[in-house]
Amino acid sequence: MADQVDIKQALSDIVDRDYTFMHICGTHEAAIAKSGLRSVLPKNLKIVMGPGCPVCITPQGEIDAAIELSEKDCIIATYGDLIRVPGTKGALESCGGDIRIVQGVHKAVEIAKETDKEVVFISVGFETTAPTVAATLLTNPPDNFSIMCCHRFVPPAMKFLLEQGEASLDGFMLPGHVCVVTGYHEYEQFPVPQVVAGFEPDDILLGLYMLVKQIREGRAEVENAYPRAVTREGNQKAIAIMNQVFEPCDVEWRGFPVIPGSGLKLKPEFEKYDALKKFGVEIKHVDKNSACICDKVLRGIADPTDCKLFGKVCTPRKPVGPCMVSHEGACKIWALYNQKK
Ligand code: SF4
Repeated sequence: MADQVDIKQALSDIVDRDYTFMHICGTHEAAIAKSGLRSVLPKNLKIVMGPGCPVCITPQGEIDAAIELSEKDCIIATYGDLIRVPGTKGALESCGGDIRIVQGVHKAVEIAKETDKEVVFISVGFETTAPTVAATLLTNPPDNFSIMCCHRFVPPAMKFLLEQGEASLDGFMLPGHVCVVTGYHEYEQFPVPQVVAGFEPDDILLGLYMLVKQIREGRAEVENAYPRAVTREGNQKAIAIMNQVFEPCDVEWRGFPVIPGSGLKLKPEFEKYDALKKFGVEIKHVDKNSACICDKVLRGIADPTDCKLFGKVCTPRKPVGPCMVSHEGACKIWALYNQKK
């Protein structure tokens, strides 16, 4: 606690103007909200959430495709959050199909081993979950098992945000969990201040302090405030397994257009596990048609409380958009922990 107070004071002492930083991790947002960190930050230091929730950035077209797979008599297995995310035809949880909540891909494979029906795992997540899915596919799961691959990479989305420049950011707090796997060398291509941070309140305060310090010293580089878990090169074994099974592809994110190289698809030798190919289902682009401003929340240009529906029409019990569904979604976190700007 003493350290935390010291870091907090050091941060207050060093903040000399308005600063806005973006983190790209739902776990950071949850840690900030749970600990009440925003209320103790200097008034002119703002931290906004970017596209750091894998469920939130899954576009409606992918939810629609998952529902179409269930209509082809497939058992759909995926994470609990995802089944509540609305597509254009509703959510998986209410589509009438055989939808199973699983804790991970290995549980979906277990279901496939116990049935003759087709089982499709809706595989969402960033670089954190993709290696586990890849490792599972390398174990030669049964023929009635396949995945709908919805994985995404963080750095291409950061590149897009920087090129757009709409959020006027001073720097980024990099996602600690993602960097455990990938390291942080890929982020060195971006000429902005960045700090990898952990998830305790004093980790986050330290990350913010290091960001402000970089700026005041005229530096723009990647620093590591989470060395107990993250190295520059990351987990080479996990990266190698991921690269053995998947290759990059261009993909749309909710709130973003198609971002080049930001997704993962199965390599040709693993295509037999590609549910979309197996069942002839396509992911279609869907134009936004709702008052939900998740797209802006995910790009860091709106806070959840800027949404007219927040806390009224859209609540954790009756979510309208994905950011109110997922426990890593900014709207749900702000609603649960009464966050304010
Ligand atoms: Fe979307 Fe609900 Fe968040 Fe508004 S409060 S942006 S409707 S998820």
